[in-house]
Amino acid sequence: MTGKKNYLYGPVPSRRLGLSLGIDIVPLKVCTLDCVYCQLGKTAETAVERKEYVLIEPIMAELKEALAGELKADYITIAGSGEPTLNSRLGELIDNLRDVTNIPIAILTNGTLLYREDVRADCAKADVVMPSLDAGDEQTFQRINRPHGIISIENLISGLRTFRKEFTGQIWLEVFVVDGVNTGAEQIAGIKDAIELINPDKIHLNTAVRPTADPNIVRLSAEKLHDIASRLGPKCEVVSDFSPANSCKLNESKSKDILGFYSAINRKAEALLSMLKRRPCSLNDICAGLDVNRNEATKYISDLQNRGVIQSELKDGIVFFKASP
Ligand code: SF4
Repeated sequence: MTGKKNYLYGPVPSRRLGLSLGIDIVPLKVCTLDCVYCQLGKTAETAVERKEYVLIEPIMAELKEALAGELKADYITIAGSGEPTLNSRLGELIDNLRDVTNIPIAILTNGTLLYREDVRADCAKADVVMPSLDAGDEQTFQRINRPHGIISIENLISGLRTFRKEFTGQIWLEVFVVDGVNTGAEQIAGIKDAIELINPDKIHLNTAVRPTADPNIVRLSAEKLHDIASRLGPKCEVVSDFSPANSCKLNESKSKDILGFYSAINRKAEALLSMLKRRPCSLNDICAGLDVNRNEATKYISDLQNRGVIQSELKDGIVFFKASP
């Protein structure tokens, strides 16, 4: 693809989706929630009004350019630097995508607007919907997801239940756990009860592996994660950032594709490391320096953090990354 990508990112290797071409359909950070673990920073003001935050015509133009090249992707993933269902033209975008490609379509959503019929109708056009649920009770929901005032855990769960009844595609529910915030025995039991009501096809358990809105958030150990996964039942599997040591099962040709993308990622990650050896950088500095989208930048940051070669620190409310001594 030529030219700067404004709305597309990747394809990037994803533990849950294989090779995923992301489409960003809301600007930073238009979201109904302000999760403590958000990798995109704090939500200045939560939003619930659906609007045409991003036009779909330039997205389609970028996508057609990508399709004209050698695009290899297992999924087109509609996401955003916030909550993608807030874009009022989501359903129309999916119709347009179907006209130009057979690549399956996934939506990454926090699920909070699924109580609305129009949002359910738009999401039902996708092949896979990946909503989140991090709490089974109101108190924990408020603490971890810090929602807009009109959103409650009750309408989140009931929206997900209604969507399950209407939608014939796959629902892969993500549960994000933060040590000491939603990991108590009663809290996990509450999440399990809600999951039984929702009946998703898969449950993906995740923890903070990337820089978060609250830098004090610490990731859960693998041991604790597996313990919680076993309590959430047989559909639950632990997912974390994609890495060769912790990858999904792939056939040989898929592995080659992934390895090809890994070389590209490694090149960017090496460029990032040399930047950070010179001076500490914020996420914005990194995006500007590498000329990449925030979602893509966090992949490289996460890769270097997993290798232990960079670290983060909070300065004047901003997270900076620097090379480890
Ligand atoms: S993690 Fe997702 S749902 Fe939560 S505040 Fe960030 S963008 Fe919104």
